[in-house]
Amino acid sequence: MIPEADRIMISQDEIAAKVQELGSRISQDYGGEEILVVGILKGAAIFMSDLVRSIASPVAFDFMAVSSYGASTESSGIVRIIKDLDQSIEGRHVLIVEDVVDTGLTLNYLVENLRSRNPASLKLCSLLDKPSRRKVEVKADYTGFEIPDEFVVGYGLDYSERFRNLPYIAVLKKDVYIK
Ligand code: 5GP
Repeated sequence: MIPEADRIMISQDEIAAKVQELGSRISQDYGGEEILVVGILKGAAIFMSDLVRSIASPVAFDFMAVSSYGASTESSGIVRIIKDLDQSIEGRHVLIVEDVVDTGLTLNYLVENLRSRNPASLKLCSLLDKPSRRKVEVKADYTGFEIPDEFVVGYGLDYSERFRNLPYIAVLKKDVYIK
């Protein structure tokens, strides 16, 4: 474990088992239908790359980037599209892949925005869910782990662009981000 971490919340093995489970459920639900998997950069990149390899249905990729917390750990509530999709999603089966649903503001905005583009279907898959932090109602169709209200890093999630490469999900020591 890295010295900045207080503890490991979800181990590498637990993540791998959950990704397989989610991939099987998604494969069953979509069958032979092609899924356009939309990863939300940058946090969902690692989860998405593992998840798509556990999905048996045909898959196409796209990515979006939206404004996030910057260097702070609190959401501003303002969502800005930094990178939009490369392709039209009209008539496609879209699966948004996100790292964590926290206040729900980001996904709420994304769902509204993508729904207005007339996909054939639109579902959400989030690795983590912090239901106690919700400000707007968002329910993912596929959720990896419900976690308490703690700031976590690893497996794609960062603090100031650090720790995304950790193979596990960890809680940082408070003094790393509270100065
Ligand atoms: P929401 O709009 O639901 O409040 O926030 C979603 C985004 O906030 C996530 O995509 C992620 O970038 C960031 N976020 C929320 N909670 C955490 C956390 O515990 N750790 C990290 N690293 N980012 C988080």
